[in-house]
Amino acid sequence: MSDDDYEPMDHIDWDLIYKDHTIEWLVHLCEVFNRGKVANQWTNWPEDFFWEPPLSTITEEHGQMWLHVAALISQNPGITVSYTHNTVPGRFGPVPVFSNDISVTGRFGSEFKIKMMPDLSDWAEIEHPQGVACVPEELHHLLKEHGNYVPETVYLCWECPRDIPTPVGLYSLLLAMLDETKVWEYLLDYIATECRGCHDTGFHHREDYLRQPGRAPGSLVGWDQFRPPYPSVKEDEDTKNYYLCSWCGPDAPDHH
Ligand SMILES: [Zn+2]
Repeated sequence: MSDDDYEPMDHIDWDLIYKDHTIEWLVHLCEVFNRGKVANQWTNWPEDFFWEPPLSTITEEHGQMWLHVAALISQNPGITVSYTHNTVPGRFGPVPVFSNDISVTGRFGSEFKIKMMPDLSDWAEIEHPQGVACVPEELHHLLKEHGNYVPETVYLCWECPRDIPTPVGLYSLLLAMLDETKVWEYLLDYIATECRGCHDTGFHHREDYLRQPGRAPGSLVGWDQFRPPYPSVKEDEDTKNYYLCSWCGPDAPDHH
């Protein structure tokens, strides 16, 4: 069959038509209309077949970005898309909810799953393997660097940055999951912390810790100037990750 004989219309899988508002349909149509081309040459955006929202509301400009996502998904056996339809209890009876699920098996075999919002504007949940035993052997050096702490239940907070279009953010998230290293670095980046006030110890994700009040020596000035300084602060400042818990911090309730 030469290129001239290829008629995309003949290759549409009409069994998927009941999913004409899902990522699965988007990926399928993009693949059919760009078949035989290498990923960066996918330019045919089959908007004529996107007649249901949210697909019908994607602009031509964003369509070109979604084509990159579709090419990545359809050319990677490690990525699968599916559509789930469930009901949740509502005030007047069960309410249908559907979600576009994307599952990614990374190069070391870890499985990550994301749920896209129904309007494809963002992703709502990221599921990932939990616990030290799930860290792939190839990345065990990260366990040594980060102190062996993997929380059992934590969301991978990988949000789409504000001014980045969703397909662009999604594309880099999928690449990071395929590669695994960056994702595990993020998941393992917990540090042991101690409250300057009550000396409660625990763990914080580094990104959250960096937003905590009282974590830097100078940050205590102002709100606590009438309180006695904590004698431990000076000598241990280099080795301990101090912060102020919500009971001891500047926003603590008055009675405390
Ligand atoms: Zn405290």
